[in-house]
Amino acid sequence: MSMTFSGQVALVTGAAAGIGRATALAFAAEGLKVVVADVDAEGAEGTVALIHAASGEALFVRCNVTQEADVQSMMAQAVNAYGRVDYAFNNAGIEIEKGRLPEGSEAEFDAIMGVNVKGVWLCMKYQLPLMLAQGGGAIVNTASVAGLGAAPKMSIYSASKHAVIGLTKSAAIEFAKKKIRVNAVCPAVIDTDMYRRAYEADPKKAEFVAVMHPVGRVGTVEEIASAVLYLCSDGASFTTGLALPVDGGVTAY
Ligand code: NAD
Repeated sequence: MSMTFSGQVALVTGAAAGIGRATALAFAAEGLKVVVADVDAEGAEGTVALIHAASGEALFVRCNVTQEADVQSMMAQAVNAYGRVDYAFNNAGIEIEKGRLPEGSEAEFDAIMGVNVKGVWLCMKYQLPLMLAQGGGAIVNTASVAGLGAAPKMSIYSASKHAVIGLTKSAAIEFAKKKIRVNAVCPAVIDTDMYRRAYEADPKKAEFVAVMHPVGRVGTVEEIASAVLYLCSDGASFTTGLALPVDGGVTAY
């Protein structure tokens, strides 16, 4: 992959694993300094070590995206270290639902909405003024194909990802004239720990999930990273407010 980036610094939340880690590595491979943010210090330090091993520049910042003080501090630490944040990938998310809507608990609802919705809102609340002061930037939020449609046993998750798209489009419109672009990626099923936790125990379910994608397989973390980098790159300069499915054709059905 080779793209043009006018900016120099990228920030990724949920960067200790999965899609976030792959995207942090991809930004670093393009020569950007990367702020690796996560609640999981061990995993995030692992991401930083991988970037350093490839001669890249990265900084770990511990951040629980549900906590305003953490998010504020994450942005302050990023600016202290690198002077600016040109690209933000708000990707931290959880999927803990097991049952149909009436089986969900209030605690599950609050936890999912807390990370997936409040977390993205809080991150943008502190990123947008910084990018405004800098004269521009690009934000990508992780939604899901579950934010475009629905499936059984994920009502809270689906609602949370619909909300991410709402936040994305609202911010895109509010800041469109200020050289700040805001987009979302909508992955279908991607081979990460989240996916393995949900499907590995049941090979039949895993097979069904693979064939549910017209391409006949689940996606890779690198395929999402590639889309995120494109949305941040200069090549996407006329693209804002988009919820981009990266889904092996699932939403074409
Ligand atoms: P993952 O579980 O591998 O990684 C998620 C990361 O987010 C972890 O490192 C975790 O520590 C971090 N995190 C969780 N809560 C946090 C918090 N409060 N503050 C900061 N960090 C926190 O999952 P993944 O599959 O890489 O998922 C990344 C994103 O992609 C999520 O938003 C998820 O909803 C979305 N997504 C995943 C899939 C999939 O199939 N894997 C599909 C569509 C969307």
